Amino acid sequence: MAEATLCKVCNKNEMAFNCNECGIPLCDICKKEVTLEEQTPGAKVKGDVTMSTLRPAKRKLKVCPKCMAEADFF
Ligand SMILES: [Zn+2]
Ligand SMILES: [Zn+2]
Repeated sequence: MAEATLCKVCNKNEMAFNCNECGIPLCDICKKEVTLEEQTPGAKVKGDVTMSTLRPAKRKLKVCPKCMAEADFF
């Protein structure tokens, strides 16, 4: 049998992701999805790098509950 990597949080389910912070395997149930909105306040680099299509920079992080609790995302 092929060995399946188990989620390091619940140790029951097969892993689906790696934590974006610490890299441990996570299953779909245990993973926490964090959406970071990176808004550039006041557009400091005006005229330099301007995105033609106005899209707020969103980063999605998939992290484990531990990192979710420890990391200061917000
Ligand atoms: Zn799990
Ligand atoms: Zn983590």
